[in-house]
Amino acid sequence: MKRRPRMATSNLYVHVPFCASKCRYCAFYSAPAPSRADVADFLRLLPRELELRGLADARPDTVYVGGGTPSLPGPDGLRALLAALPRPAPGAEVSVELNPADVSPALAAALREGGVTRASVGAQSFDPDTLARLGRRHGPLEIRAAARALRAAGIPRLSLDLIAAVPGEAPGALARSLREAVALGPDHVSVYPLSVEPGTPLARDGVAPPSDEEALAAVAEAESFLASGGYARYELSNYARPGAECRHNLAVWRGEDYAGVGPAACSRVGFVRRANAPDFAAWRAALEAGRLPPARLETLSAADDEAERFATRVRLARWRGPDPATPAGPRRAAALAALRRAGLVRPLGGGDWTLTARGREVADSVMAELV
Ligand code: SF4
Repeated sequence: MKRRPRMATSNLYVHVPFCASKCRYCAFYSAPAPSRADVADFLRLLPRELELRGLADARPDTVYVGGGTPSLPGPDGLRALLAALPRPAPGAEVSVELNPADVSPALAAALREGGVTRASVGAQSFDPDTLARLGRRHGPLEIRAAARALRAAGIPRLSLDLIAAVPGEAPGALARSLREAVALGPDHVSVYPLSVEPGTPLARDGVAPPSDEEALAAVAEAESFLASGGYARYELSNYARPGAECRHNLAVWRGEDYAGVGPAACSRVGFVRRANAPDFAAWRAALEAGRLPPARLETLSAADDEAERFATRVRLARWRGPDPATPAGPRRAAALAALRRAGLVRPLGGGDWTLTARGREVADSVMAELV
């Protein structure tokens, strides 16, 4: 029998390219209000892309189903989607992003039966006015009901996403959201300051992004509150109870390879970067014809590849310093020494480093200095 090529990475990302409606801040690729036929085509053709890319027999250690809105296809659709994925390795982490509006006991049961180990709920806020400003299609009641349903179904890990520093939101809205989020007992919380991306409804309406000071104050508030609840800031925007870090995202930040399928999904395998075209119709047409979907391919030099992988590591609470054996090692070690004198990084011993509190505030500049 002809052997199919095996996956060259143990981390798989699946992009579900649909949403019920577009949130006002969203710059991710997703098609709003898909027809039932579009969703059915996506579920039918996903295994074909996995097969053509040599991923059908992979045994990934981490699977991350994101989007878009992976929960939009409902319990039966999610069952089909999870059944279409390669069988994960024993002990693998399988994460699925969920919109609280879609989560019912039946959907939570479908996730559990499908082997999902981690549910990531896009709560964004518990303040009804903030949720309306963001154009979310759920209220705080749905977030609480979703968390209860996922816990009752026995999903091992629960993560909640929050958006901070939303312009015009009521004073104290973030504090209330943090309190309500932690009261639901998640294992993991992500807090991202709002970003106003070009072309989004927020940008078109002239909403000004939060100032650096407002964003930093919101992040400091989140860090301090979550620390008091036992959540460590293990990445710039991510907090977890010990051992509950997202293994898929950790692998990406640590510079490991990952393979992506679905429209707009990205991959990093060796020196090659691949970005599937953000175009569901083109993705479907290619796979119907038995071809790989259109994608942008780029092959990096060894130096650029190493620099990219090093840069994302610096986001973590603990990262390995430069390798003196690499061509960039000596220059990077000198930059690190200068950043240490400036109070932006400090050594943790054993060749590991961390950003200081001030370094986390200017993390982009620190990464630029290092790479
Ligand atoms: S649910 Fe997520 S992907 Fe969909 S529009 Fe909202 S932010 Fe974007």
